[in-house]
Amino acid sequence: MREPPLLEITGYRLAFDGFEGRAQVLDGIDLRVEAGETVGIVGETGCGKSVLARSVARLVPMPPGRVLGGHVRFQGQDVMAMDRAALARLRGPGVAMIFQDPMSYLNPVFTIGAQMVDVIRAHDRGAGQKMRPRSAARAAAAELLGAVRLPEPGRLLDRYPHELSGGMRQRVLIAMALSGQPKLLVADEPTTALDVTVQAEVLRLIEDLVTHNRLTLMLISHDLGVIGALCRRVVVMYAGTVVEDGPAETLFDRPRHPYTRGLLAAVPDLERPAHRAQPIPGQIPNLLDPPSGCRFHPRCPLALPVCAAQRPPLRDVDGRRVACHRAEEVA
Ligand code: SF4
Repeated sequence: MREPPLLEITGYRLAFDGFEGRAQVLDGIDLRVEAGETVGIVGETGCGKSVLARSVARLVPMPPGRVLGGHVRFQGQDVMAMDRAALARLRGPGVAMIFQDPMSYLNPVFTIGAQMVDVIRAHDRGAGQKMRPRSAARAAAAELLGAVRLPEPGRLLDRYPHELSGGMRQRVLIAMALSGQPKLLVADEPTTALDVTVQAEVLRLIEDLVTHNRLTLMLISHDLGVIGALCRRVVVMYAGTVVEDGPAETLFDRPRHPYTRGLLAAVPDLERPAHRAQPIPGQIPNLLDPPSGCRFHPRCPLALPVCAAQRPPLRDVDGRRVACHRAEEVA
């Protein structure tokens, strides 16, 4: 029998209920990630990429979140139906996450060592193994800090998060993420809060770790340059939907969705200073009342009446999946 894909999301619909009504933040997501892939998820702020990433490890609070339909499956298991024991096996040994702001995910009143030891022992318990002694977990923590190229790992374990720079804190979180030996690493804007030189170092580190540990990577970013540097496949999201999904090279060279074209045209080209970056006109839609049909139609230069009436299905075009009625005409 064929192995199920590492991650399979089918028809997944998620909403948030608030005072003003129901915001449909994910609307029919279909996405499959095979083991060993490096997949970048890109789109403007508010397109649903972070909430999609959190859904993979069932980290979206319910309520106010509400699943309206579809499934998220990890190695064939329905994530929404998992009990506590299955979730403990999923978070850490299955899926590990790195978030945008490392300070928010480290407890300021405990040393790095104390926090890492707890995480390592929790993963032991989640995996159904006997928890290793604290001294052994501390030795493992020092090894992990060395693996993410932090100097003097033994001494670092006794320091508090506020004593570390932003780049060092992010490396600590990466070390924690690796401590469960995850199959899928989800990195949600991992460098956005860092300055440019540190960003480059952290990205190089993630790339090396993914290669050496043969990890599957799901990288969330609004930065096409970051995605292009680390990922072989790119998924473009707009207003809670996947609009294009294909090999990075193909998608960057010959985008087939008008929104992907717009995103690429909005990136300044330093090699061609005469080329002016063109912003996408209009605003991202209000998800309390999203546009009918294709959610991009109010901003699309190619929109036809059919676009407002019928939602375009995600279909195979020119070696990738595209959700556009006019994909064949977009050259
Ligand atoms: Fe534009 Fe229509 Fe394609 Fe949507 S379906 S991207 S509105 S051409």
